[in-house]
Amino acid sequence: MIELKEAAKILKAAKKIAITAHTNPDGDAIGSTLAMMHALKKAGKEAFVLIDDELPRHLSCLPGFNEIIRPNETDKITADILLVLDTATDRIGCVEKIVSAKILNIDHHVTNKGEHEATYVDATAAATAEIVFDLLKLMEVPLDIDIANCLYLGMATDTGFFKYANTKSRTLKAAADCLEAGVRPNEISEFTEQKSFETVHTMVLALNTIELFANGRAAGIFLDEELTNKAETTEGFIDQIRIIEGVDIAVLLKCKKAGECRVSMRSKGKDVAKIAESFGGGGHVRAAGATLKLPFDEAKRTVIDAITKALED
Ligand code: 5GP
Ligand code: MN
Repeated sequence: MIELKEAAKILKAAKKIAITAHTNPDGDAIGSTLAMMHALKKAGKEAFVLIDDELPRHLSCLPGFNEIIRPNETDKITADILLVLDTATDRIGCVEKIVSAKILNIDHHVTNKGEHEATYVDATAAATAEIVFDLLKLMEVPLDIDIANCLYLGMATDTGFFKYANTKSRTLKAAADCLEAGVRPNEISEFTEQKSFETVHTMVLALNTIELFANGRAAGIFLDEELTNKAETTEGFIDQIRIIEGVDIAVLLKCKKAGECRVSMRSKGKDVAKIAESFGGGGHVRAAGATLKLPFDEAKRTVIDAITKALED
């Protein structure tokens, strides 16, 4: 593990920087990688973003979104630094294999164990974008509107637009600086939270699968393959059930293809990162996820059992 000023030094010394983040990318993953790309280019470096996955359409408002490269498994890329953001290096798909460079890992996930020497993890940061905000200060790269839009979106999406427990005064101060640089908060929320009619309709169907369990302390929506593939995105679905009175843990299970399910959990206090880790995933105390290589019914049973047990402890 290193200090943030050491990370700034490493980046200052590099000429060519490949930047990546986790597969199944969210607003913080895309926001912080693009913010770094803009900032490093501004500092006179060669910088580009590689993400080994499809990109969600609701983030396409970000400047630089169309420059993001989806790499091929057969590509061979050399760079001075591979900057891995918002995840440990186990969730970056083929990027880990095809890029030959020294790794610099910056993350805010408590489950990141710092496998590489040059790792900086601040689990108190609401978003990786918040760490990037501090990093750019150390690197003396001033915010411009592009960087600010990317950072603001990263912080906003990881804090549920500044309402989750991870929102600190430090987060709001960084967000305030982004507004000073010209960000319009309504434009970011209108774009990222916009959903097609079909998606809202699928959300209704998804909400109909709701089950309360663990004596009403947990609620889940369980999307089989058919329902999962009907939804263009499930972004925000879980937020509709985490508000239920008496519910500590909310869970969304989805099954994209046979034998593989994704689980997302949100909590008001219980450590869901621990539950996710027991499935081989990770995350934060109040928001975590994992991939289960199980058929839908079995995955559903496994998740309900694990959550029920965690709530009994
Ligand atoms: P979400 O439920 O929105 O997919 O993820 C919630 C949080 O858990 C995010 O911070 C995300 O990065 C993390 N997370 C989700 N899935 C995984 C996973 O499979 N492995 C790890 N290590 N973290 C995950
Ligand atoms: Mn994040």
